[in-house]
Amino acid sequence: SVEIEKMSKWFGDFQVLSDIDLSVKQGERIVVCGPSGSGKSTMIRCINGLEAFQNGKITVNGVELAQKSRVLEAVRKNVGMVFQQFNLFPHLTVLQNCTLALTWVHKTPRAEAERIARRYLEKVRIPEQAGKYPGQLSGGQQQRVAIARSLCLRPSVMLFDEPTSSLDPEMVKEVLDTMADLAQDGMTIICVTHEMGFARRIADRVIFMDQGRIIEEAPPSIFFENPREARTRRFLEQVL
Ligand code: ATP
Ligand code: MG
Repeated sequence: SVEIEKMSKWFGDFQVLSDIDLSVKQGERIVVCGPSGSGKSTMIRCINGLEAFQNGKITVNGVELAQKSRVLEAVRKNVGMVFQQFNLFPHLTVLQNCTLALTWVHKTPRAEAERIARRYLEKVRIPEQAGKYPGQLSGGQQQRVAIARSLCLRPSVMLFDEPTSSLDPEMVKEVLDTMADLAQDGMTIICVTHEMGFARRIADRVIFMDQGRIIEEAPPSIFFENPREARTRRFLEQVL
């Protein structure tokens, strides 16, 4: 589970996040949307300890991220993250990309690490690509490698930041389907995306952010059919 309480963050004088309150239970699926610059990526990066924040509290599976601490091993281990850019190592094979953190950080024996990696490559439906290099794969396949690589560390929460927005349209579906599979398996998911069909399909709640605040939070049926806030309606008119 992820608990964010009254969290605020500044970049210098600029307040990028204001009083963020968000509670995500184990197994819940949250989709985060909102205009460019509203603080979606920054919020996600705070949950993963990639960004420090100044006020409030974030707790992941009962472990509190200390304010200002940039690295918190206990939390990092529990939180997987997939970005818009795949961030794969181009000189390593798909299998090596997946086993790297297991063997180096977690000291998992190689054979065991490869067994785990192959299992998750199977899960994202590209077991046959294990020996290839990222440059030999399509964008959608590379993103699925990035997802498999995260899953290898057995996170209890997966964070996604616009995982399909750098993909060609025909590859978006395969990545969204992979994420829907994870949701089906009960993975806790917080996903920044403007794929509103996906939000309707898998989200328990949709969160709308604007200017560093959570403006609206509702189940998809209410969020899309009958949003409370004028700002949400204006945003939906643009993306739907
Ligand atoms: P997008 O939809 O374009 O990805 P976003 O909602 O993810 O936008 P963020 O990337 O979180 O927005 O950025 C929120 C605000 O914080 C923006 O105004 C951005 O310019 C600013 N910002 C982001 N990173 C930094 C940084 N490292 N230093 C200073 N300002 C930053
Ligand atoms: Mg962003």
